[in-house]
Amino acid sequence: MNQGVRLVVLGKQGSGKGTQCVRLSHHYAVPHISTGDMLRANVSQGTELGLLAKSIMDAGNLLPDTIIMDMVGERLKERNVSARGFILDGCPRTIFQAELLESMLAPKVLDLAVLLDVPTELVLDRIASRRVCSDCGTIYSTHKPPVVPGICNTCGGAVLQRKDDTVESVQVRLAAFEAETAPLIDWYGERGLLATVNGDGPEDDVMERIIAAIEAARQPQ
Ligand code: AMP
Repeated sequence: MNQGVRLVVLGKQGSGKGTQCVRLSHHYAVPHISTGDMLRANVSQGTELGLLAKSIMDAGNLLPDTIIMDMVGERLKERNVSARGFILDGCPRTIFQAELLESMLAPKVLDLAVLLDVPTELVLDRIASRRVCSDCGTIYSTHKPPVVPGICNTCGGAVLQRKDDTVESVQVRLAAFEAETAPLIDWYGERGLLATVNGDGPEDDVMERIIAAIEAARQPQ
């Protein structure tokens, strides 16, 4: 069995990071930890966290750092995660979250933060056409719909547009990315932990580029 990996994937909304994170999690046989998916599960179960998160998420704003990192911290303690690693998707989104993550992992460190770089015009088109299975999270688009319209190929769940995939919410989220998340590019760069990967192109090509970047970073220097 391969050796596992500890990876953060950064990218704007619509950069394709969700899909690539699922593929990476299969490739390296490590859990995919998506803070957005964890929050959406809380919303659909009507938990206390879900009730708090719903309106913030629908508007496209970020939740408080400590709430997110308490949730992530619990997940990192699970045995398969501490033993084999993780693909962290949607977190950290602020420098404070990155600092907390670093201290939660210590003495272990990340292998790499991968930035999936996609131009904003492309991202806007991808988000407007994005459709998601409300049960298993499989991502479709109006250009690549499920075989039976509105029904997930994988689990039969309802395939819908995300509530926060409106133009207004997307603009708020892109602004949040520039203000809060983009500074992480330098933060990880200064630590020698950043790989920028061109996220434009067919999914398989992007996946190959990401794996090449990870393997290059793991070569002994
Ligand atoms: P995502 O599925 O990653 O696009 O996340 C959906 C929404 O969940 C975001 O727009 C935020 O409202 C919230 N969220 C997810 N991850 C985080 C995070 N690390 N920090 C703050 N808010 C988050």
